[in-house]
Amino acid sequence: MNRAPIDNCPYCDSDDGYYTKDYVMGRTRYNYHFNGTEAENGEYYEHLKHKNGKVAYCKNCDKKIFNLAEMN
Ligand SMILES: [Zn+2]
Repeated sequence: MNRAPIDNCPYCDSDDGYYTKDYVMGRTRYNYHFNGTEAENGEYYEHLKHKNGKVAYCKNCDKKIFNLAEMN
């Protein structure tokens, strides 16, 4: 759980939430049926390496609002 140290954005006052910029690297496979429709792609993300961002950005105004590393 990443409980934020603030309840709303200090810049725009939005309480919409925040996001992190995650780094994703790798190669994956996207499955199709022969008629061109999407097939089962439940493992699409499992082949990728994730690195979660350490900075939280406001969903509304995109400004940096706090540092996730300082939350512990
Ligand atoms: Zn904001």
